[in-house]
Amino acid sequence: MNNLNILADKNGFFGNYGGQFIEQDLKDELQKIEKAFFEIIKDKTFQNELDYLMKNFVGRPSPIYFAKNLSKKLGNEIYLKREDLNHTGAHKINHCLGEALLAKKMGKTKVIGETGAGQHGLALATASALLGLQCDIYMGEVDIKKAKSNVDKMRLLGANIIAVSDGTKSLKEAVDAALAAYKKDFNNSFYAIGSVVGPHPFPTIVEYFQTRIGIEANKQMKEQYNGLPNYVIACVGGGSNAIGIFNGFVNEKEVQLIGVEPLGKSEKIGENAASIKYGKDGILHGFKCKVLQDEFGNIQDAYSVACGLDYPGIGPKHCHLNEEKLAKYETIGDSEAISAFYELSKTEGIIPALESSHAIAYAIKLSSQVQNKKILVNLSGRGDKDVDFIMENYPLC
Ligand SMILES: *Cc1c(COP(=O)(O)O)cnc(C)c1O
Repeated sequence: MNNLNILADKNGFFGNYGGQFIEQDLKDELQKIEKAFFEIIKDKTFQNELDYLMKNFVGRPSPIYFAKNLSKKLGNEIYLKREDLNHTGAHKINHCLGEALLAKKMGKTKVIGETGAGQHGLALATASALLGLQCDIYMGEVDIKKAKSNVDKMRLLGANIIAVSDGTKSLKEAVDAALAAYKKDFNNSFYAIGSVVGPHPFPTIVEYFQTRIGIEANKQMKEQYNGLPNYVIACVGGGSNAIGIFNGFVNEKEVQLIGVEPLGKSEKIGENAASIKYGKDGILHGFKCKVLQDEFGNIQDAYSVACGLDYPGIGPKHCHLNEEKLAKYETIGDSEAISAFYELSKTEGIIPALESSHAIAYAIKLSSQVQNKKILVNLSGRGDKDVDFIMENYPLC
């Protein structure tokens, strides 16, 4: 798999973004990880093991489904890359398996991670159970209550859940706590980050394992659907599912790549999580990116109805793709995402994750501007986890 189209420079930057804003002892460890990663991905045994697990444990390649009913309604051909069909229900298992395998090859006995809605935690706990690694998951107290069924599953899989009670008691604080724990124990443990964020080389590692989505999708569109799409659309939290599918098309000049950020309730800082649109350059969790902040540079809370998208920053490569105009970034609010959640469920019999519903909603919006185009949407996950929440808060009328 030769798949990193744009590599970070030797200091870990994509253009102006990324890098390593961390203490020296951690820098030394991350340099070891970087070296091990580039060696291991060249190793045939590692690739064979990964390929075997991707196929037989995760169920890859995930299919591309032509959404006939929705296409008819919208006047465009809508194709869905079915990451919702993966084991554990989302794309996150792709990088978790990769990270856990890498940790194991490096001789680590434990993985440390954080989780918001519990999706990354669940995928990491699953990979850890499979590979016999200890798994510590840091999670905000508020999120623990909200995502009870994922918490139960993680415990069942043998993970330790560590409740975080600082600040807003949610994702940002969970990352802070997980990073602090990792700094104390990096000799034995591996920090399995949940997206293409964090200090170099973490964004590169996660990107590499998610690029499988794009490589498959490019091939599938050509072989099954008469050629490339005009548009590729994906939701963006930290940006891992988006970068994964974008990488399959980044060299195809005629394909327009669109990342969809959550506009939440409004344009006001604190009521959305659209870091590219409303963020300013800053440092978050050891890397430089567009961050939601006030005029004094204090990092602000992110909000979206989709918990998996509410992160105040975004992966450095997305900041770079945006600056170089290699991809476009648009926004979709809570209410449009919820409508799309209902629309896909009713027209196609597929209940999408609220995160992925943002990408579907943008495909619907785009259809008021263009017609007879091929639109490929990355359906990053399934909506089972969201059904209770939707029924309680936005019930069918
Ligand atoms: C976590 C999650 C996301 C957001 O993460 P990215 O790194 O931006 O992909 C999107 N969709 C689903 C289903 C998720 O679980």
